[in-house]
Amino acid sequence: MRNIVIIGGGAAGLSAAAALAGEARVTLLEAEDALSYHSSGRSAAAFVPGYGNRLTQALIAAGRGHFENNHLLSPRGMMLLAKAGEDATFEAEMAADTMTEITVEAALDMVPILNRDAVARVAVQKDVYDIDTDALLQGFTKCARANGAQIVTKARVTDIARDAYGWRVTAGEIYRADVIINAAGAWASEIAAMAGAQDIEITPNQRSVARVPAPEGYDVSGWPFLMGVDEQWYAKADAGAMIVSPAEEEPVPAGDAWAEDMVLAEGIARYEEMVTAQVSRMLSNWAGLRSFAPDRTFVLGADATMPSFIWCAGQGGNGIQTSPAAGRLIADVVLGRPPEIGTEIADALSPARFT
Ligand SMILES: Cc1cc2nc3c(=O)[nH]c(=O)nc-3n(C[C@H](O)[C@H](O)[C@H](O)COP(=O)(O)OP(=O)(O)OC[C@H]3O[C@@H](n4cnc5c(N)ncnc54)[C@H](O)[C@@H]3O)c2cc1C
Repeated sequence: MRNIVIIGGGAAGLSAAAALAGEARVTLLEAEDALSYHSSGRSAAAFVPGYGNRLTQALIAAGRGHFENNHLLSPRGMMLLAKAGEDATFEAEMAADTMTEITVEAALDMVPILNRDAVARVAVQKDVYDIDTDALLQGFTKCARANGAQIVTKARVTDIARDAYGWRVTAGEIYRADVIINAAGAWASEIAAMAGAQDIEITPNQRSVARVPAPEGYDVSGWPFLMGVDEQWYAKADAGAMIVSPAEEEPVPAGDAWAEDMVLAEGIARYEEMVTAQVSRMLSNWAGLRSFAPDRTFVLGADATMPSFIWCAGQGGNGIQTSPAAGRLIADVVLGRPPEIGTEIADALSPARFT
């Protein structure tokens, strides 16, 4: 059995560990003292099959069975809201996500707080769900451990070298590996540089979320995911309260992300324009990093210059809903199996496209 070191204990690393454990000797190294401390613990937990480009959508579709078989999805639905003058973008997004236009009156029956003076057009999509993210990530962790994977927290990788015996990864202790999997999220380019792998710029972009009380007198639990056109803001029910995101995309250095009051306030204002219930206070807030490759497509597969260095990076805003399929693809690459997702998709996701 080959020794695999996975760097990063978020959705990317954990899904790869679950898919590989039992087939290889897996050690996962996570810098923080808890798994999923960064992006994977800070998502909006949405499963939106029509989100992202065709390759992302192929990954979402390929992993759907994992979510359904493990009862990780609950129906949410989505409602796209446009103001007057936003018709062209509204129609393009409605077509791209195969949504159905409904009247503002019909939308008000579903979400009574919509502001009929501001909302000009509405479209809905039923095929959108909430993900039980904790259960998903704990499921990967349990599966990996049950099949012999070693998961080490407080293990920040500080050096990667190669010698006649393979990789030598320093994270406090020295770990030997035949194959390294780079699942370091916002830090993926840093890890690649340490290993002397391809220079692919993975750029972290910050996105914030405010948790606010549900509008008084309303049970929001059955309301759809509300989305402004051009992703200017979104809001959805969250355990008796609501989350509202400014949906910003702010390039930042890799690090522990914190929401800025001004950015949250601007996002809340864009949401408030479309509803009649104003936000009285904030219960909590957070920010996370969505990390993109230059072409905004995932980077999954063997490095073009070092075949034993495997990229699992650039998941942007889709790393949770794609994780079961991404983990399986990484396992196929490491184990030399034909990719279950198909060669055309696997090739298009491969880091080789950057050579
Ligand atoms: C606000 C927000 C909303 C989102 N909503 C959704 C959504 O609804 N649906 C969806 O599918 N996706 C969503 N996403 C995107 C999703 O959260 C990310 O794509 C996903 O979490 C990325 O997972 P990851 O494992 O690559 O990164 P991370 O979870 O950040 O994991 C990378 C890990 O690598 C570790 N690491 C880095 N450097 C080292 C080192 N030197 N040594 C050891 N460990 C290291 C880090 O500590 C970190 O834990 C959202 C993201 C944000 C910010």
